[in-house]
Formats: sequence, structure tokens, C-alpha cells
Amino acid sequence: MSHTTHSQRKLISEKWSRFWVPSPISHVSGKFSSVTNFTLFVLLQFALLTASPVSAMSSRDSRQEPSSAPPLKALFITGGVYHDYDKLAPYLTSHLSGLINIRFDLVTNLDKLSSEHFADGYDLIVYDFCLDDVDPIALDHALQVGHKGKPTVFIHCAIHSFRNSSKIHQWEDYVGLRSKFHDAFGPFATQKVTTCNSIVADFPENWKTSGDELYQTIKVLPKTQPLITAKSPVDGRVHIVAWVHRYGRARVFATTLGHDSETAESPAYLRLLANGILWACDKLDNDRNPKCR
Ligand SMILES: [Zn+2]
Repeated sequence: MSHTTHSQRKLISEKWSRFWVPSPISHVSGKFSSVTNFTLFVLLQFALLTASPVSAMSSRDSRQEPSSAPPLKALFITGGVYHDYDKLAPYLTSHLSGLINIRFDLVTNLDKLSSEHFADGYDLIVYDFCLDDVDPIALDHALQVGHKGKPTVFIHCAIHSFRNSSKIHQWEDYVGLRSKFHDAFGPFATQKVTTCNSIVADFPENWKTSGDELYQTIKVLPKTQPLITAKSPVDGRVHIVAWVHRYGRARVFATTLGHDSETAESPAYLRLLANGILWACDKLDNDRNPKCR
């Protein structure tokens, strides 16, 4: 959550993923032989393939199901306070659909949760909202659906939601971690803390966001596996910002990152969400997922 407006923030135009590539035109003169030109061409192609996180992460995931497979069907539940979900949610769903074979149904409130069958027909539920209150029956339905095994992804303020509910600790058990507060909106860097999960295989070792809210970790469930942490620029404490765990029979991926477009527009962040979705659905290849535990 934040009371900081977009206009108050300094926009940083250079993202981590932008890089400089020399122009082949300005460096190849007519005196070079065709062999030299061909060599330069091959070297340039190699450089582009190996040095471009943007191009590597903006194409469809080669690890997804074959294109002939039906898309995953996801229910994306958004809405609430402190965030521009009208802009953020469509941005995420459209870009994630460009990365992996998935189709989203986007809803902007919890009305669907009035039915215990709200998740029927969906492969995955994504919670990306910011709501202090919840109808106890709706929360029960969400918990039941998760416990029975529905793959689930939690994004940002969903982890801080339902603070006024008497069942907040049950929601936190579903999430896999307890957090109540966050640092003020600002830039910070992250660190990968495991190589044992393919969700973070493509994530940079020292990724930076130009602005987000660093959620403070209060309690971690015993079986929660941290994937990424961040050290607070304010007080030096280290907090978990992405993790996986199991809730009942459900595979759960969660990240506290993603307050607004400062993080959401990062290709690495979108890839993290895409991988988390695939992992929750048990669709992420295991060839880069050694059995570490
Ligand atoms: Zn926020």
C-alpha cells in the first residue's frame, strides 16, 4: 500500500534490462572482405543471442506446453485500494498471455467468491488485490479451493489483504508468509537465494527496481521455500520477496513485488510471474529444477 502518487515519484528511464548494442552499419566499412563481414555478422548474432535478456524474455516460453495444447485458464482477481488496478491488472494479464500459453478471466471484486464453486473450470487462481475486509464466507471458499489443490499465485498487496478478518492467520497460512508493513516506496535491489527452483532460473542475480514497496517479512511458514530476498535500504533488514510453498494440495507461488508499473514493466518481473504461474500449475520443466529438498 502507498499514499505516494505517481506524479511524486521520479521516473527513471533506464531500466536494468536496457543495454547498448553496437550498430553493425557504423562499424563495417567497404574495405572489409565478404569473409570479414560474414564473421562480424556471426559475432553480432551471437552477441545478440547471448547478451539480450529482453529478447530472450519477451518471446513465448519454449518450456510451455506445445502450441497445440489448450491454454491454461486462469481467474485473475483484482481490485481494491491504494493501487491503480484498472491499469495494472490488464497490463499484467496481456503481457503474461504474450509470454506463456494462458487465458485470463479478469474480475475486479470478490463477488465470484460467494460461490464455493467459483474456481471450477480454472487451472489457476491469481490474487492481485488490496482489500482490508472480506466476507467470511468468501474467504472460506478461497481457503477451501486452495486447500483442495487449486494452483494459486499471490501478488503484492494480496499478501497484506484481509487484515480486518478474524481469519487473517488462515489467509497467511495459504499465502505462506506473514507481512503487515512495508518500507516507503523507493528503489531497491534483490538477491536470488536458491538455484533449486526453475522459477528463478532466468531471474538476474542482482535485479533492481526503480521503485516498489519492500514488504517486511514477519513470519515464514516452515515449508515455505524462499526464492528471492531484498535488503532494506532503510534499515538493512532482509525480507523475502518471492517464494513457493504448498497449501493443502495446492502449489503456491507468491511475490510481494509489483506495486505499480515501475516493477510491472520489467521483463524480468513478468518472466518471474510467468514462471511462477507455470510452476504452480506444474507446467514448468524439471530439467532445470534439481531436487534440492
Ligand atoms: Zn502497494
